[in-house]
Amino acid sequence: MNLNLLTIKQAQEKLQKKEISCQELTQSCIIQIENTEEHLHAFLAKNFDQALEQAKKVDRKIKQGEKLKPLEGIPCSIKDIICTKGIRTTAASKMLQNYEPLYDATVIKKIKDAGAIILGKNNCDAWAHGSSTENSDFGPTHNPWDITRVPGGSSGGGGASVAADQVIFALGTDTGGSIRLPASFCGIVGLKPTYGRVSRYGAIAMGSSLDTIGPMTKTVEDAAIVLQIIAGTDKKDSTTPAVKVPDYSQALQKGIKGLKIGIPKQALGQGLDSQVKTLFEVSVKELEKLGAKTKEIEMPYLDYGLAVYYIIMPAEVSSNLGRYEGIRYGRPAKNAADLMEIYTKSRAQGFNPENKRRIMIGTYTLSAGYYDAYYKKAMQVRTLIKKEFENALNKVDLILMPTAPSPAFKLGEKTDDPMQMYLADIYTINLNLAGVPGISMPCGFANGLPVGMQLIGPQFGEEKIFQAANAYEQATGWHKIKPKI
Ligand code: GLN
Repeated sequence: MNLNLLTIKQAQEKLQKKEISCQELTQSCIIQIENTEEHLHAFLAKNFDQALEQAKKVDRKIKQGEKLKPLEGIPCSIKDIICTKGIRTTAASKMLQNYEPLYDATVIKKIKDAGAIILGKNNCDAWAHGSSTENSDFGPTHNPWDITRVPGGSSGGGGASVAADQVIFALGTDTGGSIRLPASFCGIVGLKPTYGRVSRYGAIAMGSSLDTIGPMTKTVEDAAIVLQIIAGTDKKDSTTPAVKVPDYSQALQKGIKGLKIGIPKQALGQGLDSQVKTLFEVSVKELEKLGAKTKEIEMPYLDYGLAVYYIIMPAEVSSNLGRYEGIRYGRPAKNAADLMEIYTKSRAQGFNPENKRRIMIGTYTLSAGYYDAYYKKAMQVRTLIKKEFENALNKVDLILMPTAPSPAFKLGEKTDDPMQMYLADIYTINLNLAGVPGISMPCGFANGLPVGMQLIGPQFGEEKIFQAANAYEQATGWHKIKPKI
C-alpha cells in the first residue's frame, strides 16, 4: 500500500505499532508530491530535508518504544498565509516574495509541539482573495480530479494536496469559504471552526473579524484530531475566549440519532446546479435514514450575506493591507525617487488587480461621506444574520446547506467576471459573518467531479457537527473514492 494514502488515524496506529516507519511515510508523501506537482502546482515552498531529519528522530523514538504524541510523525502542509519560522511565507503575493518569518503562528507551534512534520507551504490566492487560486501571483493550482479545472480557493493548494494524497492533512484559512470551497471542489473534508476557537496569531490578516484557521483532511475523524490540537485560548489573540476545548473524539462516537437538522429554504433556490441539488436531496434522505430529523426552515437574511460580506471584508482588507508600504512591511519597489514613491510604487507593483479592487472598495466604504450608508448599514445587517443563525440553532441542532452552487469550474471560466467568482461563496460566506462553525464534506459526484455539503452548528458547537458528519461519512463512504492523478 502507498503510505501517503493513509489518514492521520491510520498512520498514528501503524507508526505506534511499528508496522511502518516515519521515514517511509514521509518519503511516500514526498514521492507523491514529486510525481504530481508538475500537474497540480499545490506548493510554493518545500521543506523536505528538514522533514526527513525529523522523521528520523521519530523513528528513533518508535524504536525505543516511546509513546508518540497525537500528530507525531504525520506529514502535512500549510497554507502559505500562515507564518512558519524559517520557511518562506508569501501569502502567494509578490509583495512578500522573500519574506521568511522569525516566528511561528500559534497553530504552527501547536502542531509542531504535537509532533507534526511540515512538508511545505501550499499555494493560495494572493492574500486569500479569491475562490479558485487563480489570483495567486505565482500561478494557479489545478484540481486533481480534472487538471483543466480549479481546486477552489483560496486554500486551493491545501485542497489539492490532501485530495491527491501528497500529504496526510493540511491547514487552511477561511474568511468567506476558503477552506470549505476547496474541500467541496476537491472531495475532502474542510472545517471552518467557530470564530475565536483557533488562534489567528501568525496568520497574515485578511478580514480580522472573519478570519479562521482550520483543518483540511481526508476524514471527519481526522478533522476532529487536528482541531483538538489547534483549538483553545491564546494570550496572543484576544478574540479567543477561554471556552473549554471538549474531547472531540468522544463526539465522533455519539451518532446522529435524534439530531434535528434544519434546511434553509433560501439555500436551494436560484443559481444552484441541478445535479448538486439532486445530490443534496439524496443526502438529506440518507441523514433521515440514519436517524436525523430534518425540516425546512426559513432564513431570509441569508440572501443578504454576499452583499454584506463584500462591504465588510474589503473594509478590513484595506485596513490590514495598509501596512505594506515597502519599508517596514513588504518588498520595496525598485527605482523609487523618494519616500512617497517607495510607498506608491511598492503597492502598485506588490498588489495584484484583485487586491487593489478590494483596497479601493474598502477605502471607499469607510470614507467619511459613505461610512453610514455602506459600512454601518452592512454591520447592522450582519447583526441580523448572526441573530438569524442563533434563532435557527435554538430550534434545530444543525443546519445543512450545499457548500457551493456548482462543482469545480474550468480554469479561466470566471476570471473576467469578479461577480461570478464571488458567487461561488454564496453558501459559505454567511457562516463567517455569524462566526459559526461549519464542515464541508463529500456527498457525491456530478460528472466525475466531487460535490460537497455543509453542516453548520452553533458557536463553539463543533462537537455536534462531528457527531453528524462522522455518521454520514461512515454510512456513505464517499471519502474513499480517490482521483486518478
Ligand atoms: N472567496 C472569498 C473571497 O474571495 C473568501 C476568501 C477567503 O475565505 N479567504 O473573499
